[in-house]
Amino acid sequence: MEELIKQMLLELGEDPAREGLVKTPGRVARAWTEITAGYKQHPGEMVRSALFTAEGKEMVVINDIDFFSVCEHHMLPFFGKAHVAYIPNGKIVGLSKIARVVEAYARRLQVQERMTAQIATCLMDNLKPLGVAVVLKAQHLCMMMRGIQKQNSHAVTSEMLGCFKNDPKTRAEFLTLIRQKPWD
Ligand code: ZN
Repeated sequence: MEELIKQMLLELGEDPAREGLVKTPGRVARAWTEITAGYKQHPGEMVRSALFTAEGKEMVVINDIDFFSVCEHHMLPFFGKAHVAYIPNGKIVGLSKIARVVEAYARRLQVQERMTAQIATCLMDNLKPLGVAVVLKAQHLCMMMRGIQKQNSHAVTSEMLGCFKNDPKTRAEFLTLIRQKPWD
């Protein structure tokens, strides 16, 4: 990867030999390895390794999970918040694992729509709850730095499975909960 970055610097009209850039290819290569670490992670296993038996059938909501991803069309970052909810069906999963699942899918070349569906499907398949809801709200640098340059627009995507899809009341409760501030 370092050789490619050096080539890219040349193509951009830069001098890869100047002081500030000498170590840049190595740094960029390490950064990209970290940014795309999700390819080596197994979100399904993460969920299955942290299941606990639980009686309740009340909605579990995890709001405002920060994520950073990279759009596959421009290889520029998109980032924002994920809101995830599920209704248990005999099992619950460690809360931190949900954030880890979001991160595992974020750290890849992505489109926001697919990432939303992947998080929901992973939880549906491995936790087997009554339903899953995922909403992602993100800003895309490919829209902000270039192209149409819409600085304050957010893309919102959602995926509703099981009872969140079939029951308007459950869906409405979730949408109300994710609009609330933590101190409300
Ligand atoms: Zn893009």
